[in-house]
Amino acid sequence: MLDLANRLFEAPITHQNFIAGVFNGAADGGVIQRESPAHGRLVGTYPASTRADAEAAITAARDSFDAGHWAFEYGGERARVLRDVARLIRQNAEELALVETLETSKPLDAARGEVMFAAELWDYAAGAARMLSGDSHNTLGQSMLGLVLREPIGVVGIITPWNFPLLILSERLPFALAAGCSVVVKPSEFTSGTALMLARYLKQAGLPDGVCNIIAGTGDPVGQAIIDSNDVDMVAFTGSTRVGRATIAASAGNIKKLSLELGGKSPSLVFADCDLDAAVDGVIKAATINMGECCIAGSRLLVEARIAEAFQNRLAERLEDLRMGDPLDPASRIGAIINQAQYDRISELVRDGVREGADIVCGGDPENHSGLFYPPTVLANVTPDMCVAREEIFGPVLSVMSFKTADEAIRLANDSDFGLAAYVWTNDLSTALACSRRIRAGRVWVNSALQGFPELPLGGFKQSGNGRETGRYGVEEYTELKSVHLQVGRQSERWVEGA
Ligand code: NAD
Repeated sequence: MLDLANRLFEAPITHQNFIAGVFNGAADGGVIQRESPAHGRLVGTYPASTRADAEAAITAARDSFDAGHWAFEYGGERARVLRDVARLIRQNAEELALVETLETSKPLDAARGEVMFAAELWDYAAGAARMLSGDSHNTLGQSMLGLVLREPIGVVGIITPWNFPLLILSERLPFALAAGCSVVVKPSEFTSGTALMLARYLKQAGLPDGVCNIIAGTGDPVGQAIIDSNDVDMVAFTGSTRVGRATIAASAGNIKKLSLELGGKSPSLVFADCDLDAAVDGVIKAATINMGECCIAGSRLLVEARIAEAFQNRLAERLEDLRMGDPLDPASRIGAIINQAQYDRISELVRDGVREGADIVCGGDPENHSGLFYPPTVLANVTPDMCVAREEIFGPVLSVMSFKTADEAIRLANDSDFGLAAYVWTNDLSTALACSRRIRAGRVWVNSALQGFPELPLGGFKQSGNGRETGRYGVEEYTELKSVHLQVGRQSERWVEGA
């Protein structure tokens, strides 16, 4: 793998847009250069697409949808294409994982796991393409049959962030395609490589030209053109709450449907009766996976007061063994932060937390930090009003608070503008069920952390967004329902008397 990485450093990949089945650069030749955050070396270039490129991609999607070939295609054929893409992802898994690691700086093993999970999602969506169906009503009287058709919603814009580039795209794109939609994808300008590589597999798998168009570029103009367009029927946006709000405002133009997956500040609730070793490990995993640059990161630890100090000390101890370093090194669990701006934001929020009274148990701004490596950090004596308890930091930072009763734990867990996920550590069934039912979040893990399955839907409560991705609900999200009232036999009643 190191050989392949070195070859990539020597010859960075020139990625291209994919519009109407054709691979090309940006209309004005503009290019975005991507350096590996961990190595500071160029690893790829993407087109810096213009508004005109975005419009060309939207037109291609609109034309393909209106032509109806994919929208009315037999589900079995859609399934074949999606299955073939899954196969090609697996076939190219090592290269995809390497590009993902070099662009994001996530450890290579994690990238490999994400690529394989992405393939699973394409496989699952292939199954869903054959299972999608509407409904019928045979109870409307002898002369009326009601049909509920489930139709593709139309042209979907999919806009994705930089933290799990292929995975997040694969939670959306195959589901939209399974439903029969045409799509315009805009990946993050920091990590567009694997999305543009995916375009080649779509072509190879025989997806008709124009059904899926993938263009790189910055939020404005490319993302903005997609959310503004009256030719786009739905936008699936994943990213910050700030841009999510802009997407809601722009959707007013043609009242487009939105599915939004936004920020989070998810709690890990640790009760004294739990398996403490498993909880320590799970809490660390939830807080530090992908360097904490994870929408469902367990970034708030709520721990039962009588074990709080001991638990905090065990956390700090275990964190000493968590290796931070070159993401290509198999021993590394923590790579570099995505870019300087994000690094600065993490340091600033930690400093603000300390100013407000939090104590650093371990980590914090390294004195002689080299590059973009930010160490796992635990902040104690945090109170619910502090910025480190409320704001999404998107770095490996855990803010610790304590509680005395389950009611207080649930109240603290819900004391957030966000509601994406929660992690509950207890061996008491009643406590586990009370937390699972009363915490307002889209996903709850009990005595486990972060496992995902294509079958289960994901999404957020409150300001974490709306709509659901993956699972049966994830395909249905990309459909419209239509009721057909079918007169059986001759209509005997007349509106105009005597007719
Ligand atoms: P971001 O909002 O800055 O960017 C996300 C995408 O939106 C990028 O492709 C970007 O180019 C595009 N964009 C930016 N401005 C735009 C505009 N005006 N119009 C249209 N598109 C625009 O977010 P990010 O920094 O890439 O990712 C980090 C954020 O994403 C975090 O807040 C995190 O919680 C969130 N996130 C959420 C989930 C989830 O599933 N809920 C998953 C991953 C990340």
